[in-house]
Amino acid sequence: MVKKIVRDPLFLQQKSELATEADTEVIVDLMDTLKANLDRCVGMAANMIGVKKQIIVVAAGPFIFPMVNPVITAKSGRYETMESCLSLDGERPCTRYREIEVDYFDQNFKPKHGKYTGFTAQIIQHEIQHFSGELI
Ligand SMILES: [Zn+2]
Repeated sequence: MVKKIVRDPLFLQQKSELATEADTEVIVDLMDTLKANLDRCVGMAANMIGVKKQIIVVAAGPFIFPMVNPVITAKSGRYETMESCLSLDGERPCTRYREIEVDYFDQNFKPKHGKYTGFTAQIIQHEIQHFSGELI
């Protein structure tokens, strides 16, 4: 189900908890909501639809994939850039890495490990940062 985008900074500044198999519906809602906003958004964290759980969805070209409880395990190629967010106005400076490795679970809660570079890596880093309550 497509959800409304949360723009309340007091809510978005709260930390997100680990997701469990009871959160399967949140994964589906998050994918539906990203699909509905693909013209202006390339990734989304669950707190952007009002759920403080560690779930993100990422658009990589025509594909949308969810990552549950993702953790960055390696990073290299630090750079500074500017980013915007559907939950915020304007652009903000941030530090990113060109290559990252991530441990996560897929939507069936199978453990996965992936290596990402470039724009996809940047999206993943932005969305994971939402878990800490930082506003980018
Ligand atoms: Zn964001």
